[in-house]
Amino acid sequence: MKEYACGDVVPGCGAVIRVDSEDEMIAVCTVHAQHAHGLTEPQMADDLIARIRAAIHTAA
Ligand SMILES: [Zn+2]
Repeated sequence: MKEYACGDVVPGCGAVIRVDSEDEMIAVCTVHAQHAHGLTEPQMADDLIARIRAAIHTAA
């Protein structure tokens, strides 16, 4: 199980996302960014993806 607290990358965001894999996390985060953070691109920028990957924790 992978866990990502969006507030680690986007201060003030309280969303915590839990999925089974890191690739799934990026897909879910993309949708979250589109809905919650005004992302208008179909994909997040590479540097943002890198920051999210660095912030993903492995949860039990
Ligand atoms: Zn967020």
